[in-house]
Amino acid sequence: MGGMLAGRAAVVTGSTSGLGLAMARAFAAEGCAITFNGFRDADGIEAVMAELESAHGIAHRYDPADLSDGDEAERLVRDAEAAHGAVDILANNAGVEYIRPIEELSVEEWDRCIAVNVTAAFRAARAALPGMKARGWGRVVNTASALGLVGTPRDAPYVATKHALVGLTKVIALETAEDGITCNAICPGWIDTEFSMNTINTFMARTGLPWDEGLKQLVSPTQPSWRLIDRNHIAALALFLCSDAAAQITGAALPIDGAWTAH
Ligand code: NAD
Repeated sequence: MGGMLAGRAAVVTGSTSGLGLAMARAFAAEGCAITFNGFRDADGIEAVMAELESAHGIAHRYDPADLSDGDEAERLVRDAEAAHGAVDILANNAGVEYIRPIEELSVEEWDRCIAVNVTAAFRAARAALPGMKARGWGRVVNTASALGLVGTPRDAPYVATKHALVGLTKVIALETAEDGITCNAICPGWIDTEFSMNTINTFMARTGLPWDEGLKQLVSPTQPSWRLIDRNHIAALALFLCSDAAAQITGAALPIDGAWTAH
């Protein structure tokens, strides 16, 4: 099939659900072969791959790499390169969060956040960049967060790691600026995925407020628009970053956050 990404191959981490799955769908619809990754039951991921393969006629694959292990992040990329012939697009999207005050966080939670949210992105990029440089084309899209640009209480490991991911993005961009490669961070506010739904549902259950009123009360102090961001709109931004039109957008941290970071 044709499409803007015909003949390209992508690794999208954390693509078994939520935003990563939306990105994988958007890339696949443009002709890109996908290596899926993340946790999900085997039937669920088989069904997604079969649906996308039959819709677009491209062979996708799934890799169960646990990205809390940096070696696995590098192996994920190497195996994808061997299977698809290249990793043209690396979307570092997997993420974890532990919402508690610092004194209530365990060291294991801190370490896991560093490992999944930052070290895996570094290790995957370390494995993917030589091939991208050799081919003279590459796109690295890092899913950071509005919390990669500003802080919030009770979220230390997440805020620290998303800021670190924005920093890593800038350095990758600087080191690859002459190589036909771009690296950018997307910084979303509240997305309409399970990730934020857990917090929202807990708040709704505690307050008993009607949906819109509760959402506004919970979300508007950080995100003035207070509407959840459609994951497909963020995937569309990721897809744009993979286009030729975005060839000179690199090293950017792009908010898509209903004016959160305009404060
Ligand atoms: P999600 O929970 O649906 O997605 C997280 C993905 O990461 C899942 O596929 C999960 O299996 C995977 N993952 C977690 N730990 C992993 C590990 N050790 N190894 C491999 N995969 C692992 O939530 P989402 O909202 O789609 O989140 C995607 C990204 O967006 C995350 O990086 C998150 O921090 C970021 N983000 C989310 C929001 C939000 O409001 N939901 C806002 C800003 C940024």
